[in-house]
Amino acid sequence: MSRLLEVIFTGWRKTGKLDLEAVETATRTAAHHIGATVLGELLSLSEPVPRNVVCRCGHQAQHHDTRPKQLLTVVGEVRFQRAYYLCPHCRQGQSPRDRELDVVGTACSPGVRRMMAVVGSETSFEQGREQLRLLAGLEVRAKAVERHAEALGADIAAREQIEIRRAKQLQLPEVCVPAVEVLYLEMDGTGVPVVAAETERRRGKIEGQPARTREVKLGCVFTQTTTDEQGRPVRDEHSTTYTAAIETAEEFGLRLYTESWRRGWSRAKKKVIIGDGAVWIWNLADQHFPGAIQIVDLYHARQHLWELSAKLFGPDERGRKPWTAQLLKKLDQGRIEALVKTLREFPPPTEELARILTNDAEYFARNAERMRYPKFRAQGLFVGSGVVEAGCKTVIGARLKRSGMFWTVRGANAITALHCSRLSGRFEDYWDDRAPAA
Ligand SMILES: [Zn+2]
Repeated sequence: MSRLLEVIFTGWRKTGKLDLEAVETATRTAAHHIGATVLGELLSLSEPVPRNVVCRCGHQAQHHDTRPKQLLTVVGEVRFQRAYYLCPHCRQGQSPRDRELDVVGTACSPGVRRMMAVVGSETSFEQGREQLRLLAGLEVRAKAVERHAEALGADIAAREQIEIRRAKQLQLPEVCVPAVEVLYLEMDGTGVPVVAAETERRRGKIEGQPARTREVKLGCVFTQTTTDEQGRPVRDEHSTTYTAAIETAEEFGLRLYTESWRRGWSRAKKKVIIGDGAVWIWNLADQHFPGAIQIVDLYHARQHLWELSAKLFGPDERGRKPWTAQLLKKLDQGRIEALVKTLREFPPPTEELARILTNDAEYFARNAERMRYPKFRAQGLFVGSGVVEAGCKTVIGARLKRSGMFWTVRGANAITALHCSRLSGRFEDYWDDRAPAA
């Protein structure tokens, strides 16, 4: 307090003005110091000290002595004393008080760990460190933010795996959510830069060069109840949940199935899956979500035509424009057979272009039923995968694809799980339900 008053009056005398920012910051620091002192006393209040407590090995641990513990709390460093027990059978030591306070094996309080999880899920660990300093007056190292955010994320991911295993054994409990009108499932993949060890022996996009990224697969689930006055679909506000990981399509299929189940997939009146043309997406859709309406994102399909016509016509604007326009029109009208016919009848100028034309014709032929856009629009459904594409940017890109970042798969999956949990509005539930670390 005296140091605080000193700051205030020295400045005042010197300038005749009150520097509010200096004063408010000094006041917070002083308040934290007082708080830390009170908290330390509170935690050191004599606890009941039984002679024995149960050890993890099942035997009795005996009271040994009293030991100090240093904790970083939201009001700064706190030291307190607590009873320490030692098991004569397995030689393991423990402090029951640590379990009660949820600080077993950590020097950070639950409040600090939550803050580190929040900043670590949203921004780089270094920026997270800066935010904690500015916003909370807490001094931590970037490495500590990383370690705690990743530990929490790994715990969330491990709990998800338990759910996913249940789904695999068809043992998921019935969900108690009201039956939704339309439930949407969108999925996509996006590359994340990883450390060299994570891409060994993987083929890169450029021939002969190793891959520098690994694909994060992202799934979004959201609902739609109404359409606007023009019959266009309206996404239910705050209805989107996310799930994502670097994993095989097979593993991701089960993850997505579990997520949709949680959201009431089995009780939805209408089920829709939207994705780009990637084969793995439709394989998963057939395998895990039979009976759902499948839609290829209209904008991806258009992109195919634009890219194709650029290759076919090159600088010939006058030839390219009308040709592309009529194909785009066919696409929009869902007349995919006519579109495929036009592609197949185009006289290819080179062998290379002949191959590209055949590939594209096959792409449209294969996805024809997923491109009946007038039919989908008539039902008031979305025909674009904008939600998952925005998700790839905000959920994955903004956090994992910053310059200079290289991830391990483990780290990327932990932070992704944490970020998805927060964006899906589940972090608070997780935090309340988690058993104190054993
Ligand atoms: Zn023991």
